[in-house]
Amino acid sequence: MATVTLQNISKQFANHTAVATMNLTIADGEFLVLVGPSGCGKTTTLRMIAGLETPSSGNLFIGETDVTHREPKDRDIAMVFQNYALYPHMTVRANLAYSLRLRRRPREEIARRIEETAAMLEITALLDRYPRQLSGGQQQRAALGRAIVRQPQVFLMDEPLSNLDARLRAATRAELIQLHQRLKTTIVYVTHDQVEAMTMGSRIVVMNDGVVQQVGAPLEIYRRPANRFVASFIGSPPMQFLQGTVNQTGEQVSFTGRGFRLKLSSAAPEPVLAGEMILGIRPEHLVWEPAGQEDGTGIPCVVAVVENIGSEALIHTTTAGGEGLIIKMINPERTPLPGENLTVKPGPGSIYLFTVPDGVCQA
Ligand code: ATP
Repeated sequence: MATVTLQNISKQFANHTAVATMNLTIADGEFLVLVGPSGCGKTTTLRMIAGLETPSSGNLFIGETDVTHREPKDRDIAMVFQNYALYPHMTVRANLAYSLRLRRRPREEIARRIEETAAMLEITALLDRYPRQLSGGQQQRAALGRAIVRQPQVFLMDEPLSNLDARLRAATRAELIQLHQRLKTTIVYVTHDQVEAMTMGSRIVVMNDGVVQQVGAPLEIYRRPANRFVASFIGSPPMQFLQGTVNQTGEQVSFTGRGFRLKLSSAAPEPVLAGEMILGIRPEHLVWEPAGQEDGTGIPCVVAVVENIGSEALIHTTTAGGEGLIIKMINPERTPLPGENLTVKPGPGSIYLFTVPDGVCQA
């Protein structure tokens, strides 16, 4: 079983906490993505799993074995980094063979495993080339091949696609997903790219400032973000926030923002929310109509800029209180014009409320 367990793992560098106490069990065969902004501690976490960094506290298990104090080479893991780390003076074949030779595998077995891996990654025709004779994408596949050929218990990948151009990155992303479906090996994957995290991960760990913010399946994190940080990190364009207060009159709960009042529901959620709050709404959950009578179902806005790329359009608007609000339209037939007055309406069940100042999601 290639489960990976982090038990009270933390890492301090001098006075700086790179990773605060972290508890996480990565299931056998899982594709787990660590995601967060630069400096949030994801690489340090991966390097501790790899054995390249010693935890300041806690224990690390691979399967049932405590590997906290084991050398990287004794952990049965393979790593793929953003710089492909192929040996430049060796052909792709020799690069793939290297770790198997170190392990003194029989010559026939080495040849067979290289052929199988190369076929899977479609690099058979490149086996006798040197890294300098390969494109970035081909080098990336060769580096993946070098990791795969070892048949490790766990793959650790740190931004392996970040040096590829957008088209190749999307293609390689799909290849990696397929590869995982075929090999079913545990993968721990680090990225700062939320699209990679959403599309590749069976589970995502969102980190900020060395602290795990939320762990969950991609859609769970998108639909039920634990706090404002997660809500603004997952989703594109990100969730937008409006300041105001929640008040209740009789059965009616409403949100009073700068220059608008929005009815939230007819029955008060439990516990009753009241006072200063931040309202969160995703651009894809907003619809618009020409400005009309204000009845508490929409926010009056004026259009500033329209960006239309055919399949979708972003309508940048400004509220009466001067806050920006973007509407994302899919396959737009008609977009409003700059200067036009609109009523912008949230779709059913699409409003989030966050506490001030902690930013914890309440509804
Ligand atoms: P990036 O996406 O930029 O790689 P990251 O989320 O992977 O960022 P880490 O590399 O894990 O972040 O770094 C976490 C924090 O620890 C950062 O503030 C970084 O400056 C610090 N840090 C990392 N390695 C060391 C080190 N060897 N010595 C001191 N501080 C370090």
